[in-house]
Amino acid sequence: MLSYKAPIKDIKFLLEDVFDYYGHYGKIPEYEEATPDLVDAIMEECAKFCEGELLPLNQSGDKEGCTFNEGKVTTPKGFKEAYQQYVDGGWQSLSHPEGYGGQGLPSSLGMVKSEMMGTANWSFAMYPGLSHGAMNTIHEHGTDEQKELYLTKLTEGVWTGTMCLTEPQCGTDLGQVKTKAEPNDDGSYNISGTKIFISAGEHDLTDNIIHIVLARLPNAPAGTRGISLFIVPKMQTDEAGNVGEHNNVTCGSIEDKMGIKASSTAVLNFDEAKGYLIGPENKGLECMFTFMNTARVGTALQGICAAELAYQNSLLYAKERLSMRSLTGKKFPDKVADPIIVHPDVRKMLMTQKAISEGGRAMIYYAAKIVDQIDVAKTDEEKQIADTKLGFITPILKAFLTELGLESANHGLQIFGGHGYIKEWGMEQIVRDTRIATLYEGTTGIQALDLLGRKILLSRGRSLKDFSYEVLSFCKDKSMISSNPHKRQMNKFIWPLSKAIANWQQYSFRLALKAKNNRDFVGSASVDYLMYSGYIVMAYMWAQMAQSAYEKLAGDVENRDFYRAKIKTAEFYFEKMLPRTKSLAATMMADPKTLMQLDEELFSFL
Ligand SMILES: Cc1cc2nc3c(=O)[nH]c(=O)nc-3n(C[C@H](O)[C@H](O)[C@H](O)COP(=O)(O)OP(=O)(O)OC[C@H]3O[C@@H](n4cnc5c(N)ncnc54)[C@H](O)[C@@H]3O)c2cc1C
Repeated sequence: MLSYKAPIKDIKFLLEDVFDYYGHYGKIPEYEEATPDLVDAIMEECAKFCEGELLPLNQSGDKEGCTFNEGKVTTPKGFKEAYQQYVDGGWQSLSHPEGYGGQGLPSSLGMVKSEMMGTANWSFAMYPGLSHGAMNTIHEHGTDEQKELYLTKLTEGVWTGTMCLTEPQCGTDLGQVKTKAEPNDDGSYNISGTKIFISAGEHDLTDNIIHIVLARLPNAPAGTRGISLFIVPKMQTDEAGNVGEHNNVTCGSIEDKMGIKASSTAVLNFDEAKGYLIGPENKGLECMFTFMNTARVGTALQGICAAELAYQNSLLYAKERLSMRSLTGKKFPDKVADPIIVHPDVRKMLMTQKAISEGGRAMIYYAAKIVDQIDVAKTDEEKQIADTKLGFITPILKAFLTELGLESANHGLQIFGGHGYIKEWGMEQIVRDTRIATLYEGTTGIQALDLLGRKILLSRGRSLKDFSYEVLSFCKDKSMISSNPHKRQMNKFIWPLSKAIANWQQYSFRLALKAKNNRDFVGSASVDYLMYSGYIVMAYMWAQMAQSAYEKLAGDVENRDFYRAKIKTAEFYFEKMLPRTKSLAATMMADPKTLMQLDEELFSFL
C-alpha cells in the first residue's frame, strides 16, 4: 500500500526562505491576499484532501482502470465522488481570474496544489490538469462571449477541457494535422477528423467536455502555417450554458496502456461537430505556444511527483527491511540483521532520490515565480522578458525532471528488491505511471532540440548569458566579496558551480561552431546537452538551498535537523550527481560521425 505525506515543511522552506515568495507576492497588488496565513491554511487543507481522498484511489484506480462501453467511459470507483469533492472544495478555481469565477490567487500557489494532487494520484490530477490547458487557451485567445460561456464553467470545474492535437499520423510534427474545419453561414465551423491519445477526452466526471482542437480551414497553407484552433464542446450548449444535443464528437475507444490507467486516453471522432474559431485563422499553433511553457512546467511536475512518492515509500521500506550487516560492523545488534538503509549502495539510491525530489521541487518553484510574473505583467516588454526567461528553462525542466523522476521511480523499485516488482507495494506502478512523462508534451528528444536549436543557437545564447549572469551574481554575492558569514562553508558549492557555469557557456559556444559545419551535431548533442544543463541548473538550486539553510541554522533551533539535512544533501548532490556532467560533456562533444556512418540497411542482418 502506497503512503504519502505532503512535504509541507520542504515547500515552506522554498517559499519562505529560499525564494522569498511573500516578498514577491507583496510587490504584486493582485496577490495581496496571498498572505502566509492563507497560504498555510490552503496547504494544510490541500494536504488533507490529497492524503485522505486521492491517495487511497491511486492503486485501486490503477487496478480497475477506465472502462469503455459503447462510446461511454467510466472512471474507476471513487473518482467521480473525489472529483465532486474537488469541485466543491473550490480547488479548480484557486488560481484562476476572479472575473470568471476564480479566486484570483497566484499561479505559483496553484503549482503547490498540483504538486500535492499529482503526487497523491497523478491519474486523477490529469482530469483537472487538462482543463487548465483549455482554460488558459480560452483566457488568452477567446472572445468575451467564449470566456463568459466556457471559462466560467471550466473554472467552476463543472465541465472539463482537453487539448486535441495528436492524430494517428502525427504527434510531434503537427504540420501534418489533417482534421478539417468547414465554415458555416452562422460563423461556426464543421469539424471533421480523428484525434488520438486525448487525455480526459471522454469520462463520466462531468456532463460536458470542452475540446480545444487543432484543424485546417479550406485552402489553408500546408504545414504548421495552416493550422487553426477551435473550441468544440462535446455537448451543444445554449448561451446560458445549459447542455443540449450531442455535438457529433464520439469516443471510438480508449487506450489500453502501460500506466496512468485511471486517466482516460481517448480516440475522438469529430464528424461535422460544431466548432468555434479561437484566435486568428491559421495561427493555431502560435496561439498554443503562448502558454506552452506554463503547460510544460506542469508536466515537469510529474517527474517530481513521481520522485517524491517513490522516495517516501522506499525510505520507509529501507528503514524496516533487514538484510545482512553493515560493512563497518553491526548497527542494530539487537536485531537479526541491520536494516538495508545502512548499506552504502541503498543509501546512494535514497540520497539520489532525495536530491532529485528536493532539487527538482526547487526548480519548479523557481519557475513558478516567473509564471506569476508573466500573469501580472503590465506591459508587453515585461511579459516578454519573463516569458523569455521561462522559455529558456522550460525544456530543461520538462525533460530533465521527467527523466530524473523516472530514475527515482526506478531506484524506489530497486530498493524494494523483488517486492518492488510485485504490484502490491505500488512501486512498479510509479515506474509505469511516470514513463509517459518523458513522452507527452514534447518528448525528451524534442525538448532537447528546442533547447539547443532554438533557445541557444538561434538566439545566440542570449538567455544562457542572462541565466549565467544571475548564477554568477549569486556566486559572487555569497562567496567572493560579500560579508556573507557563511562564505567559507559555501565555497564548496560556489566554486564548482561557477566552474560549471563557465564550462556550460564554453561548450555551448563550441557546439555552435561545430553545428555551423555539420547540422547533425545539434541532433547528436542535444539530449546530452539538455541533461548536462539540467544538472547545472539543479546545482544552482542546491547552492541556494544550502545558503538559506546555513542562514536559518544560526537562529531556528527547532528546525536545526531539517537545515542540517539540507546542507548534507547539497554536499551529496555536488559530490555524487553534478559530476555526471563530465561524461555528458564528453558524449555531447563527440563527433556525430559514429551515429550517422552506418547505412540504414546495415542496422540488422536478419
Ligand atoms: C497517455 C498519453 C496521453 C496523451 N495525451 C495527449 C493529449 O491530451 N493531447 C494530445 O494532443 N496528445 C496527447 N498525447 C500524444 C503525445 O503528445 C504524443 O504521443 C507525443 O507528442 C509524441 O508523438 P508521437 O507519438 O506521434 O511520436 P512521433 O512524433 O512519431 O515520434 C516518435 C519518436 O521520434 C522522435 N522524433 C520525432 N521527430 C523528431 C525529430 N524531428 N528529431 C528527433 N527526433 C524526433 C520522437 O522524439 C520520438 O522518440 C498523449 C500520448 C499518450 C501516450
